[in-house]
Amino acid sequence: MRPFSYARAPDLSQAVRLGQHTGQGQTDAPVQFLAGGTTLYDLMKLDVMVPEHVIDLTPLRGGHASITPSADGLRLGAFARMAQVAAHPVVRADYPVLAESLQLAASAQIRNMATLGGNVLQRTRCTYFRDPSWAACNKRNPGSGCAAVDGFNRNHAVLGTNASCIAQYPGDWAVALMALEAEIDLVGPLGARHLPFASLHRSADKQPHLETNLRPGEVITAFFIPATAYAQRSVYVKVRDRASYEFAIASAAVALEMDGDIVRQVRIGLGGMAYRPWRAHNAETMLTGKPLTDAAAEAAGQAAMEGAVGRGQNDYKIALGRQTIMRALMQAKAMPAPSRKA
Ligand SMILES: Cc1cc2nc3c(=O)[nH]c(=O)nc-3n(C[C@H](O)[C@H](O)[C@H](O)COP(=O)(O)OP(=O)(O)OC[C@H]3O[C@@H](n4cnc5c(N)ncnc54)[C@H](O)[C@@H]3O)c2cc1C
Ligand code: SF4
Repeated sequence: MRPFSYARAPDLSQAVRLGQHTGQGQTDAPVQFLAGGTTLYDLMKLDVMVPEHVIDLTPLRGGHASITPSADGLRLGAFARMAQVAAHPVVRADYPVLAESLQLAASAQIRNMATLGGNVLQRTRCTYFRDPSWAACNKRNPGSGCAAVDGFNRNHAVLGTNASCIAQYPGDWAVALMALEAEIDLVGPLGARHLPFASLHRSADKQPHLETNLRPGEVITAFFIPATAYAQRSVYVKVRDRASYEFAIASAAVALEMDGDIVRQVRIGLGGMAYRPWRAHNAETMLTGKPLTDAAAEAAGQAAMEGAVGRGQNDYKIALGRQTIMRALMQAKAMPAPSRKA
């Protein structure tokens, strides 16, 4: 780890002022924000991120860590801890996919430390990204190539990639946020912004070192999840190499509203197999207005994985993705009908 200066931001306006050179959080930005530190310190110890200045946002927990349910939806402060949100009775009852995706992530110690804002900004687990002795990594070292395309890529993405980067977005909670059409609040040097969560992460393009659409100095202050009938009937299915303390190799967040046997609305988020938190719009369209049978779920899984590209070792994810979606759809169907109406 390299030497760096450390400052605590006493409030949001100071955080924004001190954080003007955070870039978009890319690895070479001279300033980095610190929340729980479970991603940032890891990458600093590996010399992947080498900020000159670290701005500790912990004091913002005072005003931006509450969990506030209302008739309209659920507002979550970005500095709430993962464990705190996963255990909240309203989140568990009315937004089960959120609670499950948090509870199935990382370890108890990490969940007690890590924040929601830091969680959605976690970096890929690509081995080449996390080991600076590999020169070829466009995400860490723009223009250097991608060692994973012809290398060790068993855990890499099959959806939304291109030859410049095939990294997998590793988080769980963001997948649930995609399914529930969450929104985020940001505050930065140019003022406040309110965005669909789906627009936070960038698609794969020729600049994989730019992962989000955050502006320099912007702080995520809150998440908002609309109250819907499909949020109440929602589920997170995570497939991983071992049963606990492991990232997804495939995951699906399904939120479902039924009208008798017919699908009135469905939302499908995918994780572990895509470049960014992913939404399976074509599978949703295919299911809407029809009975949710095994055959329909299988066809939806096929549709969701259309266009998936394997690179050898990760070819298995295309079939696994289909199965994971089917399983999540059938689990959501088996849940009791929600009390909330659309
Ligand atoms: C061993 C291990 C296993 C894990 N397993 C899983 C898993 O199975 N599933 C999963 O989803 N995650 C997993 N994680 C990732 C973990 O959930 C994240 O590290 C954690 O959520 C990050 O939150 P943090 O508050 O510690 O972020 P930090 O490390 O403090 O910050 C991460 C990044 O976000 C920026 N940042 C933080 N908060 C804000 C904000 N409010 N506004 C703007 N920028 C901000 C920081 O500048 C930094 O660049 C694992 C991590 C480890 C170390
Ligand atoms: S997949 Fe992306 S993160 Fe991994 S080596 Fe290639 S460019 Fe780097």
